[in-house]
Amino acid sequence: MTSSKKVVERCCIVCREHKTKDQLIRVVRPKDGAVALDLTGKMPGRGTYVCTSKECWRALESNNALEHGLRCSITSHDKAVLVAKAVEVIGGMA
Ligand SMILES: [Zn+2]
Repeated sequence: MTSSKKVVERCCIVCREHKTKDQLIRVVRPKDGAVALDLTGKMPGRGTYVCTSKECWRALESNNALEHGLRCSITSHDKAVLVAKAVEVIGGMA
């Protein structure tokens, strides 16, 4: 009964569902520099998680969940670039 592997779960900032790391994409805000997708999960900086649902990413463009999660402001242009990249990554996963 105690042999199950511990699975680390994170919460998607959009749909609030708890998912495992392979179902989430980390977004990181480095100390200096632009907000970026962290596909390795190892980049330093404040990070937040969004799941691999394109709907969640598209929702980010019209809400401020990402700004809230990263505690910084992100221009709509930067956000659009980020979302486009993430949607591309998700497309590649399928
Ligand atoms: Zn989600």
